[in-house]
Amino acid sequence: MIKGSCLCGGVQYQIHGALGPIIYCHCKRCRKSSGSAFVTSTEIHRANFEATQGQELIKKYENPGAVDRFFCAHCGSQLYSERTATPLTMRVRLGTLDTEITERVSSHIFVGSKAEWHEIQDEAIQYQERPTP
Ligand SMILES: [Zn+2]
Ligand SMILES: [Zn+2]
Repeated sequence: MIKGSCLCGGVQYQIHGALGPIIYCHCKRCRKSSGSAFVTSTEIHRANFEATQGQELIKKYENPGAVDRFFCAHCGSQLYSERTATPLTMRVRLGTLDTEITERVSSHIFVGSKAEWHEIQDEAIQYQERPTP
């Protein structure tokens, strides 16, 4: 089992089951929402995510037809996102994990719109946009 929490500790969660591929998303929305060059996330089954504390603190920034982002209303930590197009899965923000994992980043997506001030310096696969499954 993998545990995670937000910056203030108000939200605690656990993930049952395996983590999917870890990706860096360089799209503009991810940059805005994180205040950084990219968002790092992994795909899991929604049924495998359990908020063990602070469920009431989890707020949603809704973006109809696209990606809804969930964050802690107290400290602002982004926790996960959900896409209407993929109702069974969600993407957890890796920076909120507390458990050490052995999985490593597999790819960069939306490299075509990455920040011009950020240079990718690893060997992970790069996709110009979102790769088609
Ligand atoms: Zn918090
Ligand atoms: Zn993105």
